[in-house]
Amino acid sequence: MSPESMSLLRTALIGLSLLALAAALLEGVVISLMKRAYDWRESLASLAVAIVRRVVDVVPLWIAMPGGYWLYEHRLVSPPLDAWWSWAVLGLGLEFCYYWYHRAAHRVRWFWASHAVHHSPNAFNLSAAYRLSWTGRISGSLLFFLPLCWLGFPPPAIAAAYALNLLYQFWIHAEWIPRLGPLEGWLNTPSAHRVHHAADVEYLDANYGGVLLVFDRLFGTYVAERDDLKPRYGLVVPLRTHNPVRIAFFQWMAVARDLRRARGLREALGHLFGPPGWAPDGAGETTEALRARAGLDPRGRPLAASPRVAAPGVTSAGG
Ligand SMILES: [Zn+2]
Ligand SMILES: [Zn+2]
Repeated sequence: MSPESMSLLRTALIGLSLLALAAALLEGVVISLMKRAYDWRESLASLAVAIVRRVVDVVPLWIAMPGGYWLYEHRLVSPPLDAWWSWAVLGLGLEFCYYWYHRAAHRVRWFWASHAVHHSPNAFNLSAAYRLSWTGRISGSLLFFLPLCWLGFPPPAIAAAYALNLLYQFWIHAEWIPRLGPLEGWLNTPSAHRVHHAADVEYLDANYGGVLLVFDRLFGTYVAERDDLKPRYGLVVPLRTHNPVRIAFFQWMAVARDLRRARGLREALGHLFGPPGWAPDGAGETTEALRARAGLDPRGRPLAASPRVAAPGVTSAGG
């Protein structure tokens, strides 16, 4: 792809992002006019987070994706970036890498510390789409996309495809769009993403795909929205602040607090790289512990046996 085409793509992405912003504001106005609850402070906090993120995004790719240019120099093949099928391969490859990045972002605290920002709104609406972390780019999130460099895609093309993937995800942050029939389970839809943003134990750690849900189906993390379980949005322990700086760093602060209290290297590593909610005495708030306490198996399905019998090692509810 020529430098002119890349800069055209970048301009188009900025234009579409501004349109998305306008659409989120319009959604808020319409919902308010319909006299339904709309939390404007939450949305303005998301807007503030988004504005600073644009500034932080200037971190160059050689820092955000260390080794990316070296791998590209030593690439396996050279797909022609002016051919449509190269972009199709890049899109699918990116989706695969995104699945594993996003899964790690929910299951490894180091990555969760950044990603929790996106899950912090207690309401689900279009403005939540652009509440994205400031620290992901400097804490290794893009390392998951390095295989694409080795496959022959230059880092700027990968970054552009990633931006397009995130842009797709804008519209799926709508509570008012119903289930979409045969598309469910294949494409990432508002219904599937409502499940992803839910804090209910039955819905935790599900639907990691960006555009597609095929990798969730393949790797066992797809959960459909249920008629009998309306999602409760936000974090398991809800974040009650509209301060953008606190939103951006609350989870990193929690990591720092836990590290200060850690007795030895094993505990420190657990706090850094264990699942969110991990605690050294086994009394933490991991998804598995919360499910055991609720009488569910590790994947969120009801246990046949009595719930109380099936929760060994879980002794208290913690924070
Ligand atoms: Zn997520
Ligand atoms: Zn989301």
